[in-house]
Amino acid sequence: MSTDPDCLFCKIVAGKIPSRKVYEDDEILAFHDINPWAPVHFLMIPKAHIPSMAQLAPEHEALMGRMMLLAPRLALQEGCRPYPEGGFRLFTNTGADSRQEVHHLHIHVTGGPRPWLRG
Ligand code: 5GP
Ligand code: ZN
Repeated sequence: MSTDPDCLFCKIVAGKIPSRKVYEDDEILAFHDINPWAPVHFLMIPKAHIPSMAQLAPEHEALMGRMMLLAPRLALQEGCRPYPEGGFRLFTNTGADSRQEVHHLHIHVTGGPRPWLRG
């Protein structure tokens, strides 16, 4: 599995930097964002170091599909209210124009009752 010793999220995967875990399996880790924008705000990441969506390749199809199917389940588990009254938002920043700060692919999941700090 590819990993980058200088990458913040690879360090979280390796347990070198602590995180509040939401979910973990062989390929995927989800943990609470350190600076939440909304009552629920966690990040879903592949454990492998993929810098952004720009580097996705056909071999990542199943992994990304699994993350998409996992998101609604984890959102409810973490306190998002059910659709349609509740719901949640997914977003993934890719590159400087999007203001991506951590260059290890991550999907933000935000939700919970409004108001939110951002978004
Ligand atoms: P980006 O701007 O790259 O889409 O989002 C990076 C996210 O990572 C930000 O929302 C930021 O709060 C979060 N973050 C940065 N450093 C850490 C950390 O050490 N631990 C956790 N849990 N989240 C972090
Ligand atoms: Zn990484």
